[in-house]
Amino acid sequence: MARYELKRIFLDRGVAGNPVTERILSKAGEIPVTMLNSVQEATRRLGSFEDPIGEGKHSLLITRQKGEFVKPCPGTHHRICCRYQIINLITNCPIDCSYCILQGYLNNPAITIYVNIDELFAQVEEKLSSNPSRIFRLGTGELGDSLAFDEMTHFSTTMVPFFSDKENGIFELKTKTDEVSNLLDLDHGGKTVVSWSVNPEKVVKEEELSASTLAERLEAARKCQQKGYPIGLHFDPLIHYPEWKRDYRGVIEKVFERIDGKGIIWVSLGGFRFPPYLKPIIRNRFPASKILCAELFPGNDGKFRYLKSIRVEMYREIVRRLRDYEPSLFIYLCMESQEVWEKVFGWSPKDNEALDALFAQRIRSFYAKSQLANT
Ligand code: SF4
Repeated sequence: MARYELKRIFLDRGVAGNPVTERILSKAGEIPVTMLNSVQEATRRLGSFEDPIGEGKHSLLITRQKGEFVKPCPGTHHRICCRYQIINLITNCPIDCSYCILQGYLNNPAITIYVNIDELFAQVEEKLSSNPSRIFRLGTGELGDSLAFDEMTHFSTTMVPFFSDKENGIFELKTKTDEVSNLLDLDHGGKTVVSWSVNPEKVVKEEELSASTLAERLEAARKCQQKGYPIGLHFDPLIHYPEWKRDYRGVIEKVFERIDGKGIIWVSLGGFRFPPYLKPIIRNRFPASKILCAELFPGNDGKFRYLKSIRVEMYREIVRRLRDYEPSLFIYLCMESQEVWEKVFGWSPKDNEALDALFAQRIRSFYAKSQLANT
């Protein structure tokens, strides 16, 4: 916890006394707690600061999820998406990456923790039983970091065992931390994938302010792999700068020094992209960042990206380097067009359903091989 400086906790009166609330407060030490009657009050209070987004990253809001916990990833227009399911258990994140899309996406700048986890379990059960023949991939790492506050919330200690016997559900924890201490003795049944977003140390240092170093993340991945967890890797966002080739090659070398490639269930690649509203926020909050110095162009989904030729070159290079180490890796592109898939791999899924089906195939073969390895 030392990594993130919490200045205040807002507590929604309606969840005072909830066991998860109590646990968080017992870990909070001297951090001042303010009882509120509504979530909007937290937004109002943070709105009075000069940098509400930055201040929100030092503020926890403990409340109840009144909407749906589980929602399909919205994806983006004219791109192939993988039909991932997002679990809204924690929204927002203390790591404060310069490129983080959440800075302009969330209405409420506080890091919001929803403590009515029993309702989440009921909703996941309902989702899984709605289509028993489909394998659902669900994760908490889209609207925040899955593990940044795990030491406080202990969410992993109930989520991971919950998924351990699910026939058609795979749970993913996605992180830029090394906060895995709660995971190491859990009964996971191989059904939780622990994933790391990776980038060269230079990018970590310059753009991912409170994240663990690459070396720390990979050491945490090694510990999880030793405990039998499938590992995921996300080369996302890939950042283009003069030494990118050398630096990403270095990342890949370090990955395979630490992790057995056979235990990596999936690898995603995604170039830096952002909606127009993010540009002034990055300029304002991160004046020293070089991330916007590159040439970035709007695509037909409205998002800015590097030129297609640059993205294709980066993806091809990384795919080639990864496959040099482990030819059987399952590698996919996040939010890219069929044209880019074809240029990188020589083929493309025809639509989102086809990519989802490829994931299902991958998951089945990954587990069949792990079972064989364990017999
Ligand atoms: S770790 Fe992810 S969610 Fe957190 S600030 Fe960085 S990009 Fe945003």
